[in-house]
Amino acid sequence: MTRPLHPETLALHAGWRADPSTGSVAVPIHQTTSYQFHDAGHARRLFALEELGNIYTRIMNPTVDVLERRLAALEGGVAALAVASGQAASAMAVQNLARAGDNIVASTDLYGGTWNLFANTLKDQGLEVRFVDPEDPQAFARATDERTRAYYAETLPNPKLRVFPIREVAEIGRPLGIPLIMDNTAAPLIARPFDHGAAITLYSTTKYIGGHGTSIGGILIDSGTFDWQAHAARQPLMHLPDPSYHGAVWSDVGAAMGGIGYILRARVVMLRDLGAAMSPMNAFQFIQGVETLPLRMARHCENAAAVAAWLGGRADVTRVIYPGVQTGEEQRRRDAVLIGGHGGLLGFELAGGRAAGERFIDALELLYHVANIGDARSLAIHPASTTHSQLTAEERAQAGVTDGYVRLSIGLEHIDDIIADIEQALDRAG
Ligand code: PLP
Repeated sequence: MTRPLHPETLALHAGWRADPSTGSVAVPIHQTTSYQFHDAGHARRLFALEELGNIYTRIMNPTVDVLERRLAALEGGVAALAVASGQAASAMAVQNLARAGDNIVASTDLYGGTWNLFANTLKDQGLEVRFVDPEDPQAFARATDERTRAYYAETLPNPKLRVFPIREVAEIGRPLGIPLIMDNTAAPLIARPFDHGAAITLYSTTKYIGGHGTSIGGILIDSGTFDWQAHAARQPLMHLPDPSYHGAVWSDVGAAMGGIGYILRARVVMLRDLGAAMSPMNAFQFIQGVETLPLRMARHCENAAAVAAWLGGRADVTRVIYPGVQTGEEQRRRDAVLIGGHGGLLGFELAGGRAAGERFIDALELLYHVANIGDARSLAIHPASTTHSQLTAEERAQAGVTDGYVRLSIGLEHIDDIIADIEQALDRAG
Protein backbone atom coordinates (compact mmCIF):
# COMPACT_ATOMS: atom_id res chain seq x y z
CA MET A 1 0.00 0.00 0.00
CA THR A 2 1.35 3.44 -0.90
CA ARG A 3 -1.16 5.46 1.14
CA PRO A 4 0.25 6.31 4.61
CA LEU A 5 -1.45 4.16 7.26
CA HIS A 6 -2.97 5.43 10.49
CA PRO A 7 -1.47 4.62 13.91
CA GLU A 8 -4.27 2.13 14.72
CA THR A 9 -3.37 0.17 11.58
CA LEU A 10 0.41 0.44 11.96
CA ALA A 11 0.14 -0.81 15.55
CA LEU A 12 -1.28 -4.08 14.22
CA HIS A 13 0.56 -4.47 10.93
CA ALA A 14 3.84 -2.54 10.62
CA GLY A 15 6.95 -4.67 10.21
CA TRP A 16 5.18 -8.03 9.79
CA ARG A 17 2.74 -9.92 7.61
CA ALA A 18 3.08 -13.66 8.23
CA ASP A 19 5.90 -16.13 8.76
CA PRO A 20 7.15 -17.08 5.27
CA SER A 21 7.82 -20.70 6.19
CA THR A 22 4.83 -21.56 8.43
CA GLY A 23 2.23 -18.88 7.65
CA SER A 24 2.06 -17.98 11.34
CA VAL A 25 0.20 -14.69 11.73
CA ALA A 26 1.39 -14.07 15.29
CA VAL A 27 5.06 -13.06 15.38
CA PRO A 28 7.06 -16.17 16.41
CA ILE A 29 9.36 -15.98 19.43
CA HIS A 30 12.78 -16.66 17.94
CA GLN A 31 14.38 -17.94 21.12
CA THR A 32 17.82 -18.54 19.61
CA THR A 33 21.26 -17.16 20.33
CA SER A 34 22.75 -17.60 16.85
CA TYR A 35 22.01 -18.06 13.17
CA GLN A 36 23.49 -20.50 10.67
CA PHE A 37 25.33 -18.64 7.87
CA HIS A 38 24.59 -19.76 4.29
CA ASP A 39 28.30 -20.08 3.47
CA ALA A 40 31.66 -18.42 4.17
CA GLY A 41 30.96 -15.54 1.79
CA HIS A 42 27.62 -14.79 3.46
CA ALA A 43 29.30 -14.68 6.91
CA ARG A 44 32.07 -12.42 5.56
CA ARG A 45 29.56 -9.98 4.06
CA LEU A 46 27.49 -9.83 7.25
CA PHE A 47 30.51 -9.09 9.41
CA ALA A 48 31.71 -6.41 6.96
CA LEU A 49 28.22 -4.81 6.97
CA GLU A 50 28.07 -5.28 3.19
CA GLU A 51 24.84 -7.12 3.84
CA LEU A 52 22.50 -6.74 6.84
CA GLY A 53 21.33 -9.93 8.49
CA ASN A 54 21.24 -12.03 11.62
CA ILE A 55 24.54 -12.86 13.31
CA TYR A 56 23.93 -13.18 17.06
CA THR A 57 20.93 -12.30 19.25
CA ARG A 58 22.86 -9.80 21.38
CA ILE A 59 22.77 -7.42 18.42
CA MET A 60 19.72 -8.53 16.41
CA ASN A 61 16.87 -11.02 16.55
CA PRO A 62 13.88 -11.53 14.21
CA THR A 63 11.25 -11.14 16.97
CA VAL A 64 12.93 -8.02 18.33
CA ASP A 65 13.24 -6.76 14.76
CA VAL A 66 9.44 -6.73 14.31
CA LEU A 67 9.01 -4.63 17.46
CA GLU A 68 11.72 -2.24 16.22
CA ARG A 69 10.10 -1.85 12.81
CA ARG A 70 6.64 -1.39 14.29
CA LEU A 71 7.67 1.31 16.75
CA ALA A 72 9.83 3.09 14.16
CA ALA A 73 6.79 3.18 11.83
CA LEU A 74 4.47 4.46 14.57
CA GLU A 75 6.95 7.18 15.51
CA GLY A 76 7.62 8.27 11.92
CA GLY A 77 11.30 7.27 12.17
CA VAL A 78 13.59 5.25 9.90
CA ALA A 79 15.01 2.68 12.32
CA ALA A 80 14.93 1.59 15.95
CA LEU A 81 16.97 -0.38 18.44
CA ALA A 82 15.28 -2.27 21.27
CA VAL A 83 17.30 -2.75 24.47
CA ALA A 84 16.92 -4.39 27.88
CA SER A 85 15.30 -1.46 29.74
CA GLY A 86 14.43 2.22 29.54
CA GLN A 87 17.53 2.90 31.61
CA ALA A 88 19.70 1.14 29.04
CA ALA A 89 18.04 3.22 26.31
CA SER A 90 18.80 6.51 28.14
CA ALA A 91 22.41 5.54 28.84
CA MET A 92 23.08 4.33 25.31
CA ALA A 93 21.33 7.30 23.72
CA VAL A 94 23.95 9.55 25.29
CA GLN A 95 26.98 7.24 25.21
CA ASN A 96 26.46 6.72 21.49
CA LEU A 97 27.52 10.35 20.96
CA ALA A 98 29.47 11.49 24.01
CA ARG A 99 32.60 10.19 25.70
CA ALA A 100 34.84 11.27 28.61
CA GLY A 101 35.55 15.00 28.40
CA ASP A 102 32.36 15.69 26.42
CA ASN A 103 29.12 17.07 27.79
CA ILE A 104 25.40 17.08 27.08
CA VAL A 105 22.78 19.62 28.18
CA ALA A 106 19.70 18.10 29.83
CA SER A 107 16.41 19.39 31.19
CA THR A 108 16.13 19.47 34.99
CA ASP A 109 12.70 17.81 34.69
CA LEU A 110 13.72 14.15 34.46
CA TYR A 111 12.71 10.75 35.78
CA GLY A 112 14.75 10.05 38.96
CA GLY A 113 16.60 7.10 37.44
CA THR A 114 17.79 9.25 34.55
CA TRP A 115 18.77 11.97 37.00
CA ASN A 116 20.95 9.51 38.94
CA LEU A 117 22.50 8.21 35.73
CA PHE A 118 23.33 11.72 34.54
CA ALA A 119 24.29 13.41 37.84
CA ASN A 120 26.35 10.54 39.24
CA THR A 121 27.21 7.56 37.05
CA LEU A 122 27.98 9.36 33.78
CA LYS A 123 29.79 12.05 35.77
CA ASP A 124 31.99 9.36 37.36
CA GLN A 125 32.78 8.21 33.82
CA GLY A 126 33.98 11.70 32.87
CA LEU A 127 30.89 12.71 30.93
CA GLU A 128 29.38 15.95 32.17
CA VAL A 129 25.64 16.60 32.14
CA ARG A 130 24.66 20.27 32.40
CA PHE A 131 21.14 20.63 33.78
CA VAL A 132 19.01 23.60 32.71
CA ASP A 133 15.45 24.66 33.49
CA PRO A 134 13.24 24.07 30.41
CA GLU A 135 11.15 27.11 31.35
CA ASP A 136 13.76 29.06 29.38
CA PRO A 137 14.72 27.21 26.16
CA GLN A 138 17.61 29.64 25.58
CA ALA A 139 19.27 28.15 28.67
CA PHE A 140 20.21 25.22 26.40
CA ALA A 141 22.12 27.60 24.12
CA ARG A 142 23.89 29.27 27.05
CA ALA A 143 25.06 25.94 28.49
CA THR A 144 26.47 24.78 25.13
CA ASP A 145 30.17 24.76 24.28
CA GLU A 146 32.29 23.08 21.60
CA ARG A 147 32.17 19.73 23.44
CA THR A 148 28.39 19.58 23.76
CA ARG A 149 27.20 16.49 21.85
CA ALA A 150 23.45 16.31 22.56
CA TYR A 151 20.42 17.89 24.22
CA TYR A 152 18.21 15.60 26.32
CA ALA A 153 14.71 15.99 27.76
CA GLU A 154 11.41 14.25 28.54
CA THR A 155 8.27 15.23 26.62
CA LEU A 156 5.89 14.94 29.58
CA PRO A 157 8.03 14.72 32.72
CA ASN A 158 6.43 13.81 36.01
CA PRO A 159 5.83 15.08 38.65
CA LYS A 160 5.62 18.56 37.09
CA LEU A 161 3.82 17.33 33.95
CA ARG A 162 4.81 20.41 31.97
CA VAL A 163 5.30 19.65 28.28
CA PHE A 164 8.89 20.31 27.15
CA PRO A 165 9.46 23.04 24.49
CA ILE A 166 10.63 20.54 21.84
CA ARG A 167 10.63 22.83 18.80
CA GLU A 168 12.43 25.73 20.49
CA VAL A 169 15.28 23.54 21.79
CA ALA A 170 15.56 21.42 18.61
CA GLU A 171 15.93 24.64 16.60
CA ILE A 172 18.78 25.81 18.83
CA GLY A 173 20.62 22.51 18.38
CA ARG A 174 20.20 21.67 14.67
CA PRO A 175 22.39 24.42 13.17
CA LEU A 176 25.08 23.62 15.77
CA GLY A 177 25.03 19.90 14.93
CA ILE A 178 23.49 19.02 18.30
CA PRO A 179 20.60 16.52 18.16
CA LEU A 180 17.69 16.69 20.59
CA ILE A 181 17.01 13.32 22.26
CA MET A 182 13.46 13.07 23.67
CA ASP A 183 12.35 10.50 26.23
CA ASN A 184 8.72 10.11 25.12
CA THR A 185 7.84 7.33 27.60
CA ALA A 186 4.84 9.14 29.11
CA ALA A 187 3.35 10.27 25.80
CA PRO A 188 3.48 7.57 23.08
CA LEU A 189 1.21 8.48 20.12
CA ILE A 190 -0.11 11.61 21.85
CA ALA A 191 3.19 13.43 21.25
CA ARG A 192 5.19 13.14 18.04
CA PRO A 193 8.61 14.63 18.86
CA PHE A 194 9.95 14.16 15.30
CA ASP A 195 7.22 16.48 13.97
CA HIS A 196 8.71 19.22 16.15
CA GLY A 197 12.37 18.70 15.24
CA ALA A 198 13.66 16.09 17.72
CA ALA A 199 16.33 13.84 16.17
CA ILE A 200 16.02 10.77 18.41
CA THR A 201 13.28 9.46 20.69
CA LEU A 202 13.47 6.81 23.35
CA TYR A 203 10.99 4.88 25.46
CA SER A 204 10.86 2.75 28.51
CA THR A 205 8.66 0.13 26.81
CA THR A 206 8.04 -1.15 30.34
CA LYS A 207 5.25 1.46 30.58
CA TYR A 208 2.53 2.25 28.01
CA ILE A 209 4.09 0.36 25.08
CA GLY A 210 3.69 -2.89 27.00
CA GLY A 211 0.79 -1.80 29.16
CA HIS A 212 0.53 -5.22 30.81
CA GLY A 213 3.23 -4.65 33.42
CA THR A 214 4.95 -7.97 32.67
CA SER A 215 8.23 -6.98 31.03
CA ILE A 216 11.11 -4.50 31.32
CA GLY A 217 12.41 -3.02 28.06
CA GLY A 218 13.47 0.09 26.20
CA ILE A 219 13.88 1.37 22.67
CA LEU A 220 15.75 4.06 20.74
CA ILE A 221 14.20 5.45 17.53
CA ASP A 222 16.10 7.38 14.86
CA SER A 223 14.21 10.07 12.90
CA GLY A 224 16.73 9.76 10.06
CA THR A 225 16.53 13.55 9.60
CA PHE A 226 19.68 14.63 11.40
CA ASP A 227 22.56 15.57 9.08
CA TRP A 228 25.50 13.91 10.84
CA GLN A 229 27.76 14.32 7.81
CA ALA A 230 27.46 18.12 7.98
CA HIS A 231 28.80 18.25 11.53
CA ALA A 232 31.99 16.21 11.56
CA ALA A 233 33.83 18.30 14.17
CA ARG A 234 30.82 18.41 16.51
CA GLN A 235 30.18 14.65 16.39
CA PRO A 236 33.53 12.80 16.43
CA LEU A 237 32.04 9.42 17.38
CA MET A 238 29.90 9.54 14.26
CA HIS A 239 32.72 10.78 12.09
CA LEU A 240 36.11 9.38 13.17
CA PRO A 241 37.01 6.04 11.54
CA ASP A 242 36.00 3.31 14.02
CA PRO A 243 38.97 1.00 14.71
CA SER A 244 36.60 -1.64 16.13
CA TYR A 245 34.80 -1.88 12.77
CA HIS A 246 37.25 -1.86 9.86
CA GLY A 247 37.60 1.95 10.16
CA ALA A 248 33.89 2.55 9.45
CA VAL A 249 32.71 6.18 9.48
CA TRP A 250 29.17 5.85 10.87
CA SER A 251 27.83 9.11 9.47
CA ASP A 252 28.80 7.99 5.94
CA VAL A 253 27.78 4.32 6.27
CA GLY A 254 24.45 5.38 7.81
CA ALA A 255 23.74 8.01 5.16
CA ALA A 256 24.26 5.41 2.43
CA MET A 257 21.73 3.15 4.20
CA GLY A 258 18.96 5.79 4.45
CA GLY A 259 19.97 8.02 7.34
CA ILE A 260 20.35 5.29 9.96
CA GLY A 261 23.89 6.18 11.11
CA TYR A 262 22.95 6.88 14.73
CA ILE A 263 20.96 3.69 15.26
CA LEU A 264 23.46 1.62 13.29
CA ARG A 265 26.30 2.72 15.56
CA ALA A 266 24.12 2.17 18.65
CA ARG A 267 23.49 -1.40 17.49
CA VAL A 268 26.77 -2.62 16.12
CA VAL A 269 29.06 -0.76 18.55
CA MET A 270 27.16 0.12 21.76
CA LEU A 271 24.91 -2.93 21.98
CA ARG A 272 27.69 -5.22 20.77
CA ASP A 273 30.01 -3.93 23.53
CA LEU A 274 27.66 -3.07 26.41
CA GLY A 275 25.33 -6.01 25.79
CA ALA A 276 22.02 -4.72 27.21
CA ALA A 277 19.93 -6.65 24.67
CA MET A 278 16.15 -7.13 24.80
CA SER A 279 15.15 -10.79 25.09
CA PRO A 280 12.99 -12.22 22.26
CA MET A 281 10.35 -13.22 24.83
CA ASN A 282 10.05 -9.64 26.07
CA ALA A 283 9.91 -8.32 22.50
CA PHE A 284 6.97 -10.68 21.89
CA GLN A 285 5.22 -9.31 24.99
CA PHE A 286 5.75 -5.73 23.80
CA ILE A 287 4.38 -6.58 20.34
CA GLN A 288 1.16 -7.79 22.05
CA GLY A 289 1.06 -4.48 23.93
CA VAL A 290 1.64 -2.27 20.90
CA GLU A 291 -1.32 -3.85 19.08
CA THR A 292 -3.75 -2.12 21.47
CA LEU A 293 -1.68 0.99 22.25
CA PRO A 294 -3.89 3.46 20.30
CA LEU A 295 -7.02 2.21 22.06
CA ARG A 296 -5.36 2.18 25.44
CA MET A 297 -3.81 5.65 25.17
CA ALA A 298 -7.18 7.14 24.28
CA ARG A 299 -8.79 5.54 27.35
CA HIS A 300 -5.87 6.46 29.66
CA CYS A 301 -6.27 10.10 28.56
CA GLU A 302 -10.06 10.08 28.90
CA ASN A 303 -10.00 8.53 32.39
CA ALA A 304 -7.17 10.77 33.64
CA ALA A 305 -8.93 13.93 32.42
CA ALA A 306 -12.08 12.83 34.25
CA VAL A 307 -10.12 12.20 37.48
CA ALA A 308 -8.37 15.59 37.15
CA ALA A 309 -11.72 17.35 36.75
CA TRP A 310 -13.23 15.47 39.68
CA LEU A 311 -10.26 16.21 41.96
CA GLY A 312 -10.62 19.91 41.10
CA GLY A 313 -13.92 19.90 43.02
CA ARG A 314 -12.50 18.50 46.27
CA ALA A 315 -11.92 20.90 49.16
CA ASP A 316 -9.08 18.77 50.60
CA VAL A 317 -7.15 18.94 47.29
CA THR A 318 -5.19 22.20 47.04
CA ARG A 319 -3.82 21.71 43.52
CA VAL A 320 -4.32 19.40 40.55
CA ILE A 321 -1.29 18.88 38.29
CA TYR A 322 -2.38 17.84 34.80
CA PRO A 323 -1.51 19.37 31.39
CA GLY A 324 -3.79 22.30 30.70
CA VAL A 325 -4.96 22.61 34.33
CA GLN A 326 -3.78 25.65 36.34
CA THR A 327 -1.01 26.60 33.90
CA GLY A 328 -0.15 29.93 32.25
CA GLU A 329 -0.58 31.00 28.63
CA GLU A 330 2.96 30.05 27.54
CA GLN A 331 2.69 26.55 29.05
CA ARG A 332 -0.74 26.05 27.44
CA ARG A 333 0.92 26.81 24.10
CA ARG A 334 3.55 24.14 24.81
CA ASP A 335 0.90 21.68 25.95
CA ALA A 336 -0.58 21.92 22.44
CA VAL A 337 2.14 19.43 21.40
CA LEU A 338 -0.17 16.79 22.90
CA ILE A 339 -2.70 15.46 20.40
CA GLY A 340 -5.73 13.35 21.20
CA GLY A 341 -5.41 13.73 24.97
CA HIS A 342 -3.22 14.90 27.83
CA GLY A 343 -1.85 11.56 29.01
CA GLY A 344 -2.57 9.17 31.84
CA LEU A 345 -0.40 10.71 34.56
CA LEU A 346 -1.62 13.28 37.01
CA GLY A 347 -0.66 14.64 40.39
CA PHE A 348 -2.52 16.35 43.19
CA GLU A 349 -1.63 18.00 46.47
CA LEU A 350 -3.40 17.25 49.71
CA ALA A 351 -4.03 20.05 52.20
CA GLY A 352 -3.07 17.64 54.98
CA GLY A 353 0.55 17.35 53.75
CA ARG A 354 2.76 14.29 54.19
CA ALA A 355 0.61 12.49 56.79
CA ALA A 356 -2.50 12.84 54.62
CA GLY A 357 -0.54 11.66 51.56
CA GLU A 358 0.58 8.49 53.32
CA ARG A 359 -2.89 7.87 54.78
CA PHE A 360 -4.41 8.26 51.30
CA ILE A 361 -2.03 5.65 49.87
CA ASP A 362 -2.75 3.20 52.69
CA ALA A 363 -6.51 3.63 52.26
CA LEU A 364 -6.56 2.71 48.55
CA GLU A 365 -8.30 -0.57 47.76
CA LEU A 366 -8.37 -0.70 43.95
CA LEU A 367 -5.38 1.41 42.88
CA TYR A 368 -2.04 -0.34 43.27
CA HIS A 369 0.71 1.25 45.35
CA VAL A 370 3.73 0.75 43.08
CA ALA A 371 6.73 2.64 41.67
CA ASN A 372 5.59 2.30 38.08
CA ILE A 373 3.56 4.17 35.50
CA GLY A 374 1.72 3.28 32.31
CA ASP A 375 0.17 0.00 33.47
CA ALA A 376 -3.36 -0.96 32.35
CA ARG A 377 -4.22 -0.86 36.07
CA SER A 378 -4.42 2.42 37.99
CA LEU A 379 -1.38 3.11 40.17
CA ALA A 380 -0.53 5.55 42.95
CA ILE A 381 2.55 6.63 44.88
CA HIS A 382 3.50 9.29 47.42
CA PRO A 383 6.82 10.60 46.01
CA ALA A 384 7.98 12.53 49.12
CA SER A 385 8.23 9.31 51.12
CA THR A 386 9.44 7.05 48.27
CA THR A 387 10.91 8.02 44.89
CA HIS A 388 12.04 11.48 46.07
CA SER A 389 12.79 10.70 49.74
CA GLN A 390 16.58 10.91 49.27
CA LEU A 391 16.35 14.56 48.15
CA THR A 392 16.57 17.57 50.46
CA ALA A 393 13.35 19.53 51.02
CA GLU A 394 14.69 22.22 48.69
CA GLU A 395 15.54 19.70 45.95
CA ARG A 396 12.10 18.15 46.32
CA ALA A 397 10.47 21.56 45.93
CA GLN A 398 12.54 22.16 42.79
CA ALA A 399 11.40 18.81 41.44
CA GLY A 400 7.78 19.87 42.07
CA VAL A 401 7.24 17.34 44.87
CA THR A 402 5.60 18.89 47.93
CA ASP A 403 4.90 16.84 51.08
CA GLY A 404 1.25 16.37 50.17
CA TYR A 405 1.89 15.47 46.50
CA VAL A 406 0.39 12.20 45.24
CA ARG A 407 1.12 10.82 41.76
CA LEU A 408 -1.47 8.79 39.93
CA SER A 409 -1.10 6.74 36.76
CA ILE A 410 -4.67 6.31 35.66
CA GLY A 411 -5.51 2.97 34.08
CA LEU A 412 -8.28 1.40 32.06
CA GLU A 413 -10.76 0.40 34.78
CA HIS A 414 -14.28 1.88 34.60
CA ILE A 415 -14.01 5.55 35.51
CA ASP A 416 -16.70 5.26 38.21
CA ASP A 417 -14.69 2.56 39.99
CA ILE A 418 -11.46 4.59 39.81
CA ILE A 419 -13.11 7.70 41.22
CA ALA A 420 -14.97 5.72 43.90
CA ASP A 421 -11.67 4.31 45.21
CA ILE A 422 -9.95 7.71 45.17
CA GLU A 423 -12.99 9.23 46.93
CA GLN A 424 -13.10 6.71 49.74
CA ALA A 425 -9.32 6.98 50.23
CA LEU A 426 -9.50 10.78 50.35
CA ASP A 427 -12.33 10.61 52.87
CA ARG A 428 -10.31 8.29 55.09
CA ALA A 429 -7.10 10.35 54.64
CA GLY A 430 -8.96 13.22 56.34
N1 PLP B 1 12.16 7.13 31.42
C1 PLP B 1 11.04 7.39 32.11
C2 PLP B 1 10.26 8.63 31.81
C3 PLP B 1 10.60 6.50 33.10
O1 PLP B 1 9.47 6.77 33.80
C4 PLP B 1 11.36 5.33 33.37
C5 PLP B 1 10.96 4.36 34.43
O2 PLP B 1 10.20 4.65 35.32
C6 PLP B 1 12.53 5.11 32.64
C7 PLP B 1 12.89 6.02 31.66
C8 PLP B 1 13.39 3.91 32.89
O3 PLP B 1 12.78 2.78 32.36
P1 PLP B 1 12.99 1.28 32.88
O4 PLP B 1 12.35 1.19 34.23
O5 PLP B 1 12.33 0.46 31.82
O6 PLP B 1 14.48 1.03 32.95
